Amino acid sequence: MKDIVIVGAGPIGLYAATLASLHELDGEVLEGQEIIGGQLSNLYPEKDIIDLPGYKKITAQGFIDALKAQQESRPNPLPIRLGVELKEFKKIDGGFEVTTSKGTIETRTILLTTGMGVFSPRKIGLPNEDSFSNIIYALKDKSQYKDKTVAILGGGDSAVDWALMLSEIAKKVYIIHRRNEFRAQSSSVAELDQKGVIKLTPYVVSKLNGEKEVTSVELSNVDTKEVKTIDVDAVFVNYGMVSAPTSFPVEKIGPNIKVGAFYMTSVENVFAIGNIAQYDGKVKNITSGLGEAVTAITKIDQIIHPNKNIPVHY
Ligand SMILES: Cc1cc2nc3c(=O)[nH]c(=O)nc-3n(C[C@H](O)[C@H](O)[C@H](O)COP(=O)(O)OP(=O)(O)OC[C@H]3O[C@@H](n4cnc5c(N)ncnc54)[C@H](O)[C@@H]3O)c2cc1C
Repeated sequence: MKDIVIVGAGPIGLYAATLASLHELDGEVLEGQEIIGGQLSNLYPEKDIIDLPGYKKITAQGFIDALKAQQESRPNPLPIRLGVELKEFKKIDGGFEVTTSKGTIETRTILLTTGMGVFSPRKIGLPNEDSFSNIIYALKDKSQYKDKTVAILGGGDSAVDWALMLSEIAKKVYIIHRRNEFRAQSSSVAELDQKGVIKLTPYVVSKLNGEKEVTSVELSNVDTKEVKTIDVDAVFVNYGMVSAPTSFPVEKIGPNIKVGAFYMTSVENVFAIGNIAQYDGKVKNITSGLGEAVTAITKIDQIIHPNKNIPVHY
């Protein structure tokens, strides 16, 4: 049986994992997504954070990279299991049986750092969308699109970045946005013209045509309702991310988890910290969540090792 299962590898779960190693706890970290970093990596990786102790400024992704490097530098780092989502847990003798999307784990304590929940890409929202294999939500290997005609949906920085990247290799690149103004940096938007990307605005996708693959996309003009169809080899969707919180069998305050002393939930030896935790005076930011991790991990060490002289600093 593990000492601890930490659920979520956002900033607070990552720091809690470092502390758990410092306390020589045996455990693992479950992360429902294929990447670590929570809101920082999914929602605002390029933003400069200016309210963290010790940094004049650091990008959100830079801070996650620093937390990961610190976590990995420990001699006994807790393994982080990516793509493993906690589904539920139940009490067993001496601890809990945790059911994940990839099997079960037995653990004496659980630390929930599940924040806003697991993120996934926002879809177009058309009924037959999932039946096509060439609708892509994350650009990984652009070389596959050499000499192809591709359509990128979205108007933010990363949609424009994808269009610019693909324009280096694809035969024809369309970028389709429902407004005339892009939300991306003006220098990148100007580059779209220089690189020959065809801007179609203000258009939305109204129909996807094809069998197993989309072969053409029907577009509807938001202002005039005029409809046009373009032939494509692939469609890239960049409409941002949506989060899906998991519900756990603990007492809640609204969508969040109610915690008491030591950030323990209504279930003994199940703790919650970071954005998911709620109590009087709660501040939902990174620094306050990091502090909560210190208290919760110290308490968990006391539970696991009742006779140990627990260190306060190292
Ligand atoms: C636009 C924006 C800007 C911000 N700027 C700042 C700032 O400048 N300074 C600041 O201090 N704070 C800022 N914040 C707030 C900060 O991002 C949050 O306080 C912080 O992300 C909370 O971290 P967390 O680890 O608790 O949760 P999250 O960052 O939400 O991470 C939770 C992790 O848990 C995973 N997870 C969820 N459910 C499960 C499950 N069932 N199984 C497995 N894994 C699961 C998720 O995939 C995710 O990786 C900002 C927030 C936003 C949205």
